[in-house]
Amino acid sequence: MDCLFCEIIKGNIPSKKVYEDEKVLVFLDINPNTNGHMLIVPKEHVVTIDDISDELAAHINGVKKKLYKLLKERLNCSGLTVVQNNDYGQDVKHYHVHMIPRYEKDCWHMNFRQDNLKDIEEVLKELN
Ligand code: AMP
Ligand code: ZN
Repeated sequence: MDCLFCEIIKGNIPSKKVYEDEKVLVFLDINPNTNGHMLIVPKEHVVTIDDISDELAAHINGVKKKLYKLLKERLNCSGLTVVQNNDYGQDVKHYHVHMIPRYEKDCWHMNFRQDNLKDIEEVLKELN
């Protein structure tokens, strides 16, 4: 299997490690959106939310909280945006959670194209 994040976990490709335990490795994103942008990567090769066990997801949730505390204490961030891409928009096909510390005036907005959206009632009908 040719997986970039598996190679990082095995130590075959270097990374800027922030935290590690028996289930996850956390390292700085090579192309950060803000100072301290990091990725929580499970050591087990899973790809999307469809593959991840509830137990591992719960563990990652605990790691998120620990790292948010670290980011506030050490980098003095004002907030945190958590992103986890699945399938479309997911460049690396090994599950990972982006922890993006937010700073006042960092000027980041979610910019989706919204001019061709369906009526919200129509969407609700499709979902129910
Ligand atoms: P995604 O689009 O959600 O799959 O995000 C993949 C992320 O991995 C991007 O933000 C990349 O900058 C990051 N990335 C790619 N290669 C590396 C690497 N060798 N070390 C750290 N981060 C990486
Ligand atoms: Zn992998």
